[in-house]
Formats: sequence, structure tokens, C-alpha cells
Amino acid sequence: MIKVAINGYGTIGKRVADAVTLQKDMKLIGVSKTKISAEAFVAKSKGYPLYIADLEKRSEFESAGIRVEGSVDEMIASADVVVDATPGGVGQKNRALYEKAHVKALWQGGEKHEVANFSFNSQCNYRSAIGKQFVRVVSCNTTGLCRVINTIDSAIGVEKVRAVMVRRGSDPGEIKKGPIDAVVLDPVEIPSHHGPDVQTVLPHISIVTSAMIVPATMMHMHSVQMDLKKEVKTEEIIELFRKNPRIGLITKETGIKSTAQLKEYVMDLGRPRADLWENGVFLESVKVVGKDLYLFQAIHQEADVVVENIDAIRAISGEVTDPDTSIKMTNEAMGFVAIR
Ligand code: NAD
Repeated sequence: MIKVAINGYGTIGKRVADAVTLQKDMKLIGVSKTKISAEAFVAKSKGYPLYIADLEKRSEFESAGIRVEGSVDEMIASADVVVDATPGGVGQKNRALYEKAHVKALWQGGEKHEVANFSFNSQCNYRSAIGKQFVRVVSCNTTGLCRVINTIDSAIGVEKVRAVMVRRGSDPGEIKKGPIDAVVLDPVEIPSHHGPDVQTVLPHISIVTSAMIVPATMMHMHSVQMDLKKEVKTEEIIELFRKNPRIGLITKETGIKSTAQLKEYVMDLGRPRADLWENGVFLESVKVVGKDLYLFQAIHQEADVVVENIDAIRAISGEVTDPDTSIKMTNEAMGFVAIR
């Protein structure tokens, strides 16, 4: 059993914690919080051992009825792998803690590539992560891009990618971010950071991205165009996506043409937290014209990286060396069958 600790029990951390408890080869040994919040009560109700960074706050937690197991240092010391899911920029500061404890660790996409010098995506570079001490799981948008680009590039060859990201303004539970009524170019400059971030995983891919933020919370929407190395039929592309366990195909018959309807669909399917772990590729948007491929895909920012974190834990532990085996183990444990 791989002993996993979650440092930072927020949007991503709480999902990864639940996913870890479902894996037959992993054990959740603890989660951490810096202050009392609803999530601390959730951890308590799920019976997750809770650790805190500052033990001086122990009495505050305990008088609120939340048992504290010990310090973050103690949690780290008893883990095989730490998943750092603290806010972007904080994780970098934790690196010294993991070095000191000689523990393996993985970070999220809010950190720079240099935090680990290895950026991870299950389907693109799992084997190269085997046995590493540190890896960074790329962001939600980069994960979504890497999945579709790698699928097409490995089978057909991709000359160039252009992608426009329409990004959600905040996560649904976030009350301090916006915009409330604007379309914000983020950044104004082209390219956005997403293209270079894809290249941390797929360095040979030529890609230019641009991005804007809109008043929405559910998911991001990508408009992707790829110049292919040869002419293929649209059906061949769809078949490649159909075979990919991390790509879902949203069909016209469902009537779904928005992130809101897709979220409702996923909720009705009974997924925990209505999480869409796969890319939501709109089947009828997939179109090849000459050597140009076009598609729209919805990316659930809170969810797609969760399954990647589970595979990354396995890769750096060196317990499973075949990416397809890990992906299958992760998906099956979570009862995740990609939407078709
Ligand atoms: P979040 O704010 O929801 O959760 C972070 C948690 O870490 C909070 O519970 C916070 O209290 C805790 N924390 C803060 N400082 C800490 C410290 N020093 N030690 C331990 N815990 C600490 O953030 P999030 O959205 O889950 O983001 C975490 C990381 O995942 C970031 O790198 C982010 O860029 C990345 N990410 C976020 C999303 C998303 O849509 N939310 C998607 C993909 C990747």
C-alpha cells in the first residue's frame, strides 16, 4: 500500500483524498488544514486524520470539535508520497519540507514547472516519471490540451496547434473572484502561458494559445484547431477519441451544448461532486477539413487533474510501470467509465 498524505485540503486536495481512499493500492494517512473551515468538518465526518501546520492552533480546532492528529511535519514523516494541493505559489515553499523528510511529492499546476523540473500527464509521459522524487501535475487546461493533442499526435502526427481557452472566472464555491459581468482577456498578450505549459509535457509540439475569462464557474471551454501531418477522415479522429479512456464524447442527441447542461448531466449520472474527470469533447464539433482538425471541448477544472494525481502517485512510487494499467486501475476504482 502506498501511504499518501494530502497537504492542502481544498478544491483539489479533497477530491484527490477521496480518490486515494478508493484505490486498492493506496492508503490515505492524513490531510492538512491551516485554519478551521467547512472542509475541516468534512474531513472529520469522513474520518480522515487531520494535521495542522501550526500546532499552536490545536486548541482552536479541538474546541470546535475537530480532533488534530499532529503537525504537518509529522504527517509528512509517515508518508510515502505527499500530494501538495496548497494554493499556487505556496507549494514551492513546501519543497524544503519534502527534501528534509526525504519523501516523494507531487505538486499542482499552480506551481511553476521548475518546482519539480518534471511536468506530468498520465498518457504523455508516465514512464519518464517512474521513480522520480518530485513531479508536477499540470493544470486543468494543460491536462485537457495534452490529452487531445497527444492522442492525435501519436496516431496521425500534429504539425501545429492553435487553441483558444474560454476560462471560468472562479470555482463554484469561490466568492472573491470574478468577473461578474465582463469578458476579460487573460492575458491580453498572445500566446497565453498554456502553450508553453503544454510544451513542458510535449516539448516537440508547436502550439499557440490565447485565453479569456468569462463570468462562469462550471467548466472551461476550449476551441482547438490542429494542423495534421496527413489527411484523415473525421471518423478516424472520432474513433481515436472513442478508444481513449480519458476522453468523453458528448453527442448531439443529449441536447447538451453548454457547460451548464454538461454539469447537470454529470450530476444526474451520480458522479461524486458532479465531477467530469475526462475531457468533454463535443462529438459533432470534431471536423477535419483538408489537413485541419477542429473541435470544442469542455474541461472541468476541479476534476480532470484528480485522476492524473492518482496516476502520478503510482508512477513516482514505481509500483506500476505501465501507464495504461495505472489509468485502468484509477478509472475502475472510481467507477469511471468515460461518457460515450
Ligand atoms: P484551494 O484554495 O481550494 O485549496 C488550497 C488549500 O490549501 C486550502 O484548504 C488552504 O487552506 C490550504 N493551505 C493554504 N496554505 C497552506 C499551507 N501552507 N499548508 C497547508 N495547507 C495550506 O486551492 P485549489 O483550487 O485546490 O488549488 C490548489 C492547487 O491546484 C493550485 O496549484 C492550483 O493552481 C491547482 N489547480 C486548481 C484547479 C482549480 O480549478 N481549483 C484546477 C487545477 C489545478
